[in-house]
Amino acid sequence: MRNRVWIPDEAGVRKTKTEYEAMVQRTLTTFLILLGLTVFGLPPINAETLPNGFKYRIQRRPESQLVAVDVWVRAGASSERRDEKGCAHFLEHTLFKGTTHRKSGETDFAIEQLGGIWQAATGPDYVHLYTTIVPAALDTALEILDDVLRNALLPTEEVEKERRVILDELGKYESELSNRLLAHLYREALPNHPYQDPPGGTTDTIQSLRRAQLAAFYKRNYTPERCTIVLVGNVIEANAANTIEKVFKSWKAESTQDEPVVPVPERVSALFVEAEAPLSDGAIAIGWSAPPAKNAKMAVCGRVVAEIIGSSVAGRLALPELAGTNANTQYTPRYQPSLLHISARLPATAPPSPEQVTQLEMAILRVVTSLTKQPVTTPELQLAKRQIAIRLRLDSETCLGLARLIGYAATVEGDNPEQFKKNLALLNTKDINEYVQQYLRPHQRVVVRYLPKTVPNVESKP
Ligand SMILES: [Zn+2]
Repeated sequence: MRNRVWIPDEAGVRKTKTEYEAMVQRTLTTFLILLGLTVFGLPPINAETLPNGFKYRIQRRPESQLVAVDVWVRAGASSERRDEKGCAHFLEHTLFKGTTHRKSGETDFAIEQLGGIWQAATGPDYVHLYTTIVPAALDTALEILDDVLRNALLPTEEVEKERRVILDELGKYESELSNRLLAHLYREALPNHPYQDPPGGTTDTIQSLRRAQLAAFYKRNYTPERCTIVLVGNVIEANAANTIEKVFKSWKAESTQDEPVVPVPERVSALFVEAEAPLSDGAIAIGWSAPPAKNAKMAVCGRVVAEIIGSSVAGRLALPELAGTNANTQYTPRYQPSLLHISARLPATAPPSPEQVTQLEMAILRVVTSLTKQPVTTPELQLAKRQIAIRLRLDSETCLGLARLIGYAATVEGDNPEQFKKNLALLNTKDINEYVQQYLRPHQRVVVRYLPKTVPNVESKP
């Protein structure tokens, strides 16, 4: 398949510009419905569930010439069992390589004939398959998706071919310091947790997976009640809904259960220092436990707090002592509780010393502590909300961008727009400060520091 992309989450792989934007979109989904209805003047989303549990969301955009088709499956890395690590990503690569109705290459050919290209991505809580087509091609696209979701054969020779492709991707990913740093942080902060490993798998797990494991994961997780199809663009809702029903209604429901919630382990001031291969710069990542998407009020607060800390315009990290360190904050509300993290690296001007990395850590901690000593002000909160809203507006411009927001909300966030709407409207500085008190305690951080190889490997406690 051409142009397939892998959207890892912030714990995963470096993102291309497009995929970084996609990540930002996902983090802002809580605001989607609120702004979609009131700012963008869009009609309400047509949201239904078929008797077998298969969901669809249709957003009409009559001014568009095209339709984005984006199917989301709750079959991401967090649905993998212990011996299935890497299966979600591996399947994403292999799904289109032949079905009971089509040989390898035929699904690509069929959509390319209609002017589209299949793309796909894997995240911690989902896999999604998507394309943009002309409205006349919609029936064919839905029929192909149905075939791929239900009848993929996963031929052994295609599995081996894709294994090489994935290992090549992972090799590039793992060669980046910032990716290794964040993967290391999540591994240390979230032991025995669904987000412990990068969502794309690791070289080791991809090498060891067998076809039978992929097939078992596929059978267990690709079920109608774990799927949501999103259409955004120039469609007539009633016609599109009829087609969806016709195509997907014969898919038999399975009684799969939601994954149990796994709390973030309570950690007290764990400091990990890793000596690295010779580098021209040192780096640091600090993580704090953060709420799941379904804790809607706190998830909105976390998103705003990340903006207040990390905004490149006026965020609290914008300090002279952190200039040139690429210091940034990330928090993506996920299905399970996860992390808010801040990372930075020393400017590559000279071989770094451990003291410099310590100073970097202390500067970041001062910023986090400042949220307690100098609580967030109303203008600061309003600015953060405005920045988020503007980016969301830009991200929602394309049919595919909006489809992603809707799909993520349906798959991960529990589709509760009224709750989000209420929470955002009521969000005040007191809520933000409560979040800070509850989640950003300086002594409950987990730290990973990367230093040149010459520095002895030390693990210490503050
Ligand atoms: Zn991939």
